[in-house]
Amino acid sequence: GEMDGAHLQVTDVSKSFGGNKALTDVSVDARPGAVTAIIGPNGSGKTTLLNMISGFYRTDAGAITLDGHEVEGQSSYRVARAGVSRTFQTPNIPEKLTVLEAVEAGRYASDRVSMLSSILRLPRYWRVRRQDRAEAERALALVGLSAHRHELANALPLGNRRLLEVARSLVATPKVLLLDEVASGLDEDELDVLASLIGRLRDAGLTVVLVEHNFQLVLRLSDDIYVLAHGKVMAHGTPDEIERDPRVMQEYLGV
Ligand code: ADP
Repeated sequence: GEMDGAHLQVTDVSKSFGGNKALTDVSVDARPGAVTAIIGPNGSGKTTLLNMISGFYRTDAGAITLDGHEVEGQSSYRVARAGVSRTFQTPNIPEKLTVLEAVEAGRYASDRVSMLSSILRLPRYWRVRRQDRAEAERALALVGLSAHRHELANALPLGNRRLLEVARSLVATPKVLLLDEVASGLDEDELDVLASLIGRLRDAGLTVVLVEHNFQLVLRLSDDIYVLAHGKVMAHGTPDEIERDPRVMQEYLGV
């Protein structure tokens, strides 16, 4: 594909906060060219797992590798440089940036050196500017927001802000894209746009990890689903297998 995904492997990862075991021996295998979903009720450990993959938390035990290389224990900006990019549940877009500027700035959100150069206005920063602009335009086109490039980012409706969030994470040319609840609050039309975008990213070869509450969207988009409950993987399988698993329906949907 046009995008090089990386094989993300989480192996027997555990994490406690004080006496509270947030994750116990969790293993997740996410492959390039596939959408891997992580679902589960509130408090089941999804955010903690994302935070460990992206280097915001250290694990207590276990391994996290990208194409076989250990990333656990590295700082979040190193993990980002290794190709792991994520969206946030609450998009944090600086005031007064246009859509295009917000996407250009997305690169620096995860890159301390470039961020520093941009603040200090070092020469390297100006050299890469032109290339940044082109990459930002490409990312905007990919998510279908080109026509909005000169509008204020924070003035966009929610659905478009979520697409913008994805575009921001794409300018870092990720190998693994972690999507944290990107569908929440979207209407049916916006969901269709998002689903088609995620499908295209997958088909282009990216490794997509989807943390998502919308069960129908997960069933529709995922190649592989991990169900967390009480910090453990209680089920793992294809959408068909998960949908037919009565334990999952009981735990996850309460039916
Ligand atoms: P989910 O994203 O599935 O709702 P979380 O990963 O947010 O679940 O939470 C899993 C458990 O870990 C919960 O019991 C939560 O209270 C706890 N937890 C998560 N982050 C922290 C933290 N920074 N400090 C203390 N406890 C935390």
